[in-house]
Amino acid sequence: MSKDARPIFMAPPETSPLLNRTVFGSEHDDYRRGVRNFFEAEVYPHWEAWEAQGHVDRDLWNKAGAAGMLCVTMPEAFGGLGADRLFATIVMEEQARVGASGPGFSLHSEIVAPYLKHYGSQAQKERYLPRMASGELIGAIAMTEPGTGSDLQNIRTRARDAGDHYVLNGSKIFITNGFLADLVIVVAKTGETGKGSADTSLMLVEAGTPGFTKGKPLKKMGMRAQDTAELFFEDVRVPKENLLGSEGAGFLMLMQQLAWERLMIAIQAQASAEAAFDIARDYVKSRTAFGRPVAAFQTMRHRMADMQTELGVGRTFVDECLKAEIAGTLTPMAAAAAKMWVSEMCSRVIDQCVQMHGGYGFMWEYPVSRAFVDNRAHQIYGGTNDIMRELISRAL
Ligand SMILES: Cc1cc2nc3c(=O)[nH]c(=O)nc-3n(C[C@H](O)[C@H](O)[C@H](O)COP(=O)(O)OP(=O)(O)OC[C@H]3O[C@@H](n4cnc5c(N)ncnc54)[C@H](O)[C@@H]3O)c2cc1C
Repeated sequence: MSKDARPIFMAPPETSPLLNRTVFGSEHDDYRRGVRNFFEAEVYPHWEAWEAQGHVDRDLWNKAGAAGMLCVTMPEAFGGLGADRLFATIVMEEQARVGASGPGFSLHSEIVAPYLKHYGSQAQKERYLPRMASGELIGAIAMTEPGTGSDLQNIRTRARDAGDHYVLNGSKIFITNGFLADLVIVVAKTGETGKGSADTSLMLVEAGTPGFTKGKPLKKMGMRAQDTAELFFEDVRVPKENLLGSEGAGFLMLMQQLAWERLMIAIQAQASAEAAFDIARDYVKSRTAFGRPVAAFQTMRHRMADMQTELGVGRTFVDECLKAEIAGTLTPMAAAAAKMWVSEMCSRVIDQCVQMHGGYGFMWEYPVSRAFVDNRAHQIYGGTNDIMRELISRAL
């Protein structure tokens, strides 16, 4: 593609939401400006190189830590900012805005670190959280196995009690941050009751522990700069002090954290869809056909009206869920509904954004092309949307 036609990241003016957002205060706006600068300067320009190598550069994590963007909701005593989850939301939204699916910051900061905060011993928190906040240590969580994902109670990875330690055997797949990870929360069976909910435990396994090996980053349809890897555990000696929470309580801990984890997916999908829409809207305003801007055709204007309406509905739902999360009242059902509906709306909207770009929308260099495949994963991880429907329907 000629150099002139190559798109660079130009922040398009953001579409005003249908209703003003009321979740954030001025302190959040200041923080957002810094985060936005970081993603535009330190992340966006590298997407091509990072996609080629299948992961972001290791030092990006240290830069993000220094910029105060990792583990912001962790207590200050453990290196965080002691901030509310709206700050974490800003990091997710700004990352989505530049379409950078590479850095696994949100999983590290808002999924892995909270397990340590809520269930970790004082020694575990002191050992890991400050280094996670600085970016010195990268976290991952390994639930899914080659043989099972949705049916988590039927995992086969097992940790056998050997006195003062466990002996861990098994393998995990599709693990975000897996290739670069320094610390992995591994979901394993420790009990023999036959009930997955009672037999499951979480344990902390450090990279470099003998018997713990990693596969290369998996080649994916999208999110190509995000390292997603297979992990193997062969007679790994895990000291008992690396157990997270109590033995057999793993399933309960996983369930308790899921609502926020699912809302996080909705937050990212919503912001990604809005960003793609802004880019596509600007494109059809500048592209001409039949002597007019493409945006002038009624069919295009009506298409954009539909998209803006869907985005508005999603935005309101996500922000109300966010308010509930901050108030401590977010229900698993609302989070599942947000994850399901917004991830599907995101795919519908971005499909239209590709269409609005014509042939250019199919070119990898164009952000909407990458957004089309990158955002498809929101319907799969964090529990597939079929599972979300199952959960919502069970509560009816
Ligand atoms: C990019 C990416 C990153 C990921 N990151 C992580 C990570 O960091 N850590 C981690 O542990 N995992 C991760 N995963 C794995 C992800 O969570 C699983 O892929 C997902 O939970 C589905 O599991 P599965 O792939 O085994 O599919 P399966 O469970 O085999 O499902 C196959 C199909 O069957 C359907 N299905 C299954 N059960 C039911 C049911 N009861 N009712 C109706 N339909 C059903 C599913 O919806 C799906 O359509 C990641 C996946 C991707 C793609």
